[in-house]
Parts: sequence; structure tokens; C-alpha cells
Amino acid sequence: MKAVEAESPVQQVSKSFLDQFNAMQRSGALDDLALLRNENRVLDNLLNDAAKLYAIGSVEEVMDFVIDRVLQEFIPTYLLVIMESPRGGLRQYCYANMKPSEEQLTQGTYESLKSRFISAKYPTDFIKIDLPARAIVELSRFDPDIVIPMCGIEGTFGLGILGRKVVGEAYTPVERMYIDKFMRFISIAIQNNLNRESAITDAKTGLYNHAYFKQRLEQEIAHVKRHDAKAGLIMLDIDHFKNFNDTWGHLAGDEVLNHLALALKRTVRVEDVASRFGGEEFCVLAIECDAVKLWDMSERIRRAIEETAVPYKAETLSVTASLGCCLIDPNLSAGVQDYVDMADRALYQSKGKGRNRSTLYKPGLLDRARAIRELLD
Ligand code: GH3
Ligand code: MG
Ligand code: MG
Repeated sequence: MKAVEAESPVQQVSKSFLDQFNAMQRSGALDDLALLRNENRVLDNLLNDAAKLYAIGSVEEVMDFVIDRVLQEFIPTYLLVIMESPRGGLRQYCYANMKPSEEQLTQGTYESLKSRFISAKYPTDFIKIDLPARAIVELSRFDPDIVIPMCGIEGTFGLGILGRKVVGEAYTPVERMYIDKFMRFISIAIQNNLNRESAITDAKTGLYNHAYFKQRLEQEIAHVKRHDAKAGLIMLDIDHFKNFNDTWGHLAGDEVLNHLALALKRTVRVEDVASRFGGEEFCVLAIECDAVKLWDMSERIRRAIEETAVPYKAETLSVTASLGCCLIDPNLSAGVQDYVDMADRALYQSKGKGRNRSTLYKPGLLDRARAIRELLD
């Protein structure tokens, strides 16, 4: 018979470790540990995301971010994010199988759903929400599973509706935790951007406002100087608009302003800045353009305005505008007000020459003398 060999100290330690490991596995503690690790990873990602989110400068970019992150976690059949715009109306972003969709919820159904989240500020299973039959029928189109309120300083201002997972499984507790926390961060980012939009745009036309335009012009002047780049400024003023208002009324005039703003948005490039500078005056900052491109752009805008038909009651109305433009010159030490004055002078030449035309500002003798003086200083 073979004698039993005594275990070495190393063997003893390994065995006791193995015993402990087996005991932990049997008790389920290891599963809990894996769950905690996963939860920790999710929370860590959320914190990193929050830092990125707060540097985003538009609601559209926040939504791109949402789609990117949701896709990393799961794929819902539908995702609908609805928010109240500070200037009234709803803004909706719908994704069917995570692809943008035009589908929208009616104001009435949104209000019914929102009213269930006045005191409850946490995600709720759709099935547990008591709603009128009409709202349930309309919402069923979005295959809703979880409804998440978006809360800001003044209470609930929007909702997220999450469809079931494409694969058909239920959302796990960790995924639910992720959805809850993620939407809290998203809500703040969206509200920041909605407020920023109202602060920098004009309420009547939705174009950028005077203060924001001047800020962008100042930045562009500095950029042009630093990089020896080129940019341009276009200013326009509607012709005989007082007469127009006197003939058709102020409401018709407001319709014209809205149509003109749409024509401007359609005509300029996304990187350019179109703004309502004052009552019936508009400005465009054209990024990276030389004299020829600036002139072409000015004429394109003039023609677009001339061709814009404005339906008003039984009439179709139209206006023309006079434009003045100037190049932002890297060699000139001119500031915001100087360039606005140059474009304004060119604009008034257009008015003087008969209106409905563009004039490119050319430095006169006085301006040249001032430029030489600036160089000598
Ligand atoms: P000009 O061709 O010389 O520019 O003539 P004008 O009549 O357009 O110029 P004027 O400066 O005499 O009048 C500007 C008019 O623009 C008067 C004002 O009632 C109108 N206006 C300014 N802001 C608004 C607005 O928000 N809505 C409407 N409907 N009209 C506006
Ligand atoms: Mg004017
Ligand atoms: Mg005018």
C-alpha cells in the first residue's frame, strides 16, 4: 500500500483557494461580481459620455450621439424623441430600426402621455401607463415598450419612447438602468441646446439674430487675418417695404419675411451664416469666398428673392431686395462695424442705382488713404 504523501504548503493554499472559489460559485457570488463589473462598465461609459455630450452644440448632433450610443447597447424597433420647442410646437426625431423616419405623434397623444409624467419622473413600462384608447391605438404604431420622461428646470419638456428590442428579448435590469441614466444626461444636453437656439436666433424668421451674427463676424475677421483666408459679407434690404406693408398689411409683410428667410437658407451653403440683421434687413457671412464667388452669391440671393412667390389670401405677392457686399480682407485692420459700414454703403449704391441689384464694395480714395495710414501706424 502506497503511503499518503503530506501536502506541501503551496498545495494547501491552492486547495483552500479552490474550495473558496467553488463555494463562491455555488452561492452565486461570482455571478453577482460579473453583474457588478458590467454595471460599473456601463456607469463608467455614461460618465465619459456626459462629458462629451455637454460640448455638443445642436439638438441634431445630440440625436446623432444618442443613435450612436443606443446602437452599441441594443437595437429597438422604434425610438421616438419628442421635445417642446421653447418658442412653441413640438420637435420630433423618429427612428424605425434606427433609421430616420418621418413618422410623428399628434400633439393630443403627446399631451396625454406627458400628463402621466408630471409627478413620476422615471422610465415606465408602456403597458402600465393608463391612457385613452385613442392614444393607445396611435402609440401602438411605435411598438412602445418603455416611456422615458425628459425633465428640465421647469419640469417635463419631452418624452423618449423606446420600442421593444428587435431580437424580441426583454430589456435587462442593467439596460434599464442605462436607459434611465442616459436619458437624464440627454435631457440636459437637449434643453441646453434648445435654450441656446432661442438665444441666438430671431423669433420671427428662425434665422440667426443680430447679436450672434456680429459675434460670428468678429470671429471670422480674426480667422481671415490669422490664416490669410478670404470671406465676404452680404447685406440686403427689401425694396419699398413700407409701401408693401401700407398696401397689403403687416401680416402680409411678415409672410414675406418668412418666405425670404427660407429662400436665404436654401440659397446659402451650410457653413455660411444667414441672419436677420434688423426689421427688413438681412446679412450673410460667406465663408471662404473670393470677389467673384461673393458677387455670384449675392446675385443668386437677389434672384431667389425676386422669384419667391408668397401666397397671401387670394393673392400671390412678391418683393425685390437691394444688396451690398464687401470682402473681408486679411490685410486690413478693420473691425465688425467697419465691414458692416462697407456693405451698407454698397447697399445704398444699389438703392441709388434703381434697387433690385447687387453692388460690390470697392474702396474709394478715402478708404485707400485710411488703409495706407493703418499700414504706416
Ligand atoms: P427702401 O427701398 O428704401 O428700403 O424703402 P423701404 O420702404 O423698404 O424702407 P423704410 O426704411 O422706409 O421702411 C422699412 C419698412 O420695413 C417699414 C417697416 O414697417 C417694415 N418692417 C420692418 N420690420 C418689419 C416686420 O417685422 N414686419 C413687417 N411686416 N414690416 C416690417
Ligand atoms: Mg431698411
Ligand atoms: Mg427697405
